[in-house]
Amino acid sequence: MSTRIKTPNLDDIWVKWKEKAARTDRKKMEKQFGTKGAVFSLDAISAAEYVKDTMKEAAIYFAVKKSLGPAPTGKEENLVTAPRVGREQYYSFKGAGKINKENWKGNEKVPHFESIQAVPCKNCKGKGYLEDKCKTCKGTGKIEEIFTVLVGEEQKKEKKPFSYPCGACYGTGNRTEPCKECGGHKNMYKYEILPVPFQSVVTGIPILHSSAQTRYEKEIGEDLHKIIEDVEGIKFSDFKELESKTEASLGYMNKNISKTIGAAKTDYRKHEKDKDAQITSQIYLFPMIQMMAITKRGTKFEIYSLGSGNKFMVYSNF
Ligand SMILES: [Zn+2]
Ligand SMILES: [Zn+2]
Repeated sequence: MSTRIKTPNLDDIWVKWKEKAARTDRKKMEKQFGTKGAVFSLDAISAAEYVKDTMKEAAIYFAVKKSLGPAPTGKEENLVTAPRVGREQYYSFKGAGKINKENWKGNEKVPHFESIQAVPCKNCKGKGYLEDKCKTCKGTGKIEEIFTVLVGEEQKKEKKPFSYPCGACYGTGNRTEPCKECGGHKNMYKYEILPVPFQSVVTGIPILHSSAQTRYEKEIGEDLHKIIEDVEGIKFSDFKELESKTEASLGYMNKNISKTIGAAKTDYRKHEKDKDAQITSQIYLFPMIQMMAITKRGTKFEIYSLGSGNKFMVYSNF
């Protein structure tokens, strides 16, 4: 069973608008609608005189709670040599509490200063150098030479070994080379690129789709969001039901309304899939009236109503 919702009467919308406009800025109303030499009266400002065009449209509203929260989880690690550690820009959040994402300038994941850790170099086992046999003495520690010595009266040539300590290894037979991996710094350094600890902020966001061709959809949505309980619409729990009952509920239909339902449905699905979002209301369908008006002074403006004849809101760019 579907309920037919009564569209507000045009004069009622007009009255609600002009009273609100006079409360907000009476001087402006006087300037735009007053007559020189006559006492200004709201009663004299009639819809019949100043409303040039009226369109029957529809709007679909639902509310979404979005948590602006921690950045994507997971960490990334970098392993670098000692001289390169300092090339990174580090951040520290120690004792800083949670960060307000709206104020944060920069990446959502950053290198954390406290995550820097020394990791003994695997290549040299943390020694900083590699030991190897001395190439000059082949590990013997000695340089061996053969002298040709002339022996005795006959000066007979005899080969005699002679050795002295190797100067390349100071006679140890071993040589050390700085480790190419760690550059002799013994350690490599590891740091983590972690999410900025954002605080979770949950905000309620109004989603409004209207078939009226208006620049004020966002503003109307925000106004509606604040007083949603005081504006009467028809609530649906899914789009299938809404689609099948829109025409019967409104008592009218047009191409733009069908398109709007399609767009709202797509948007709804998107929010359903978004893991940071939660749809917190039913889907509301509102009759929407769009009025094109002009003041006595010739200033064009628009008035919108959303809701039923019993409970509706007005929005205007006046
Ligand atoms: Zn040597
Ligand atoms: Zn090393």
